[in-house]
Amino acid sequence: MMRLFVAIPIAEPIRQRLAALHGGVPGARWMEADSLHLTLRFIGEVPEDQAIDIDEALLGLRTAPFALTLDGVGLFGSARRARILWAGVERNDALTHLQAKVETALVRCGLPADAHAFTPHVTLARLRDAPAERLGRYLSDHGLFRAGPMPVNRLTLYRSHLSDHGSRYEVLADYPLTSA
Ligand code: ATP
Ligand code: MG
Repeated sequence: MMRLFVAIPIAEPIRQRLAALHGGVPGARWMEADSLHLTLRFIGEVPEDQAIDIDEALLGLRTAPFALTLDGVGLFGSARRARILWAGVERNDALTHLQAKVETALVRCGLPADAHAFTPHVTLARLRDAPAERLGRYLSDHGLFRAGPMPVNRLTLYRSHLSDHGSRYEVLADYPLTSA
């Protein structure tokens, strides 16, 4: 079995803009620059033969490149029990369309439909026992954060290796977006 997800990798110079958001939150574990990504679809554990079908389905996608802009910062979880600190993504019809196409392709591979609404974000840090007051200050300090436009010209199929020291992402394949 392999734990997979489909995402847009975050490229320079946006990585540097996101690295500049590090700090100021006790208990935060910040993402490594080369792990930064925007998840389009978390797949989870699949057997190897299904991973091959998934690869073929993603190869078959025909989508033109576009650009996206990061906008603001926020939290998943309540202010008292926040788990994830993220950068938001400005509303983007091309991104929504791409996510829907990926979802359709994966359901055709036999994966269960994703019951959750797509909430585009880039995870910046995992939080543990972060003081609410510091988080509040962080959010107001960085509320006006914006970065981009970032060209999106490929998707990536990642394999996630979980361990006690955190997760490590392995790039399994890239899928260029082409206008032709
Ligand atoms: P850890 O779970 O150990 O904190 P991680 O979240 O970085 O590590 P994964 O759980 O493998 O690693 O997740 C890979 C990517 O998929 C991340 O972007 C994560 O936010 C996203 N993801 C994980 N689980 C889900 C889920 N149930 N629904 C939507 N996205 C998910
Ligand atoms: Mg996780």
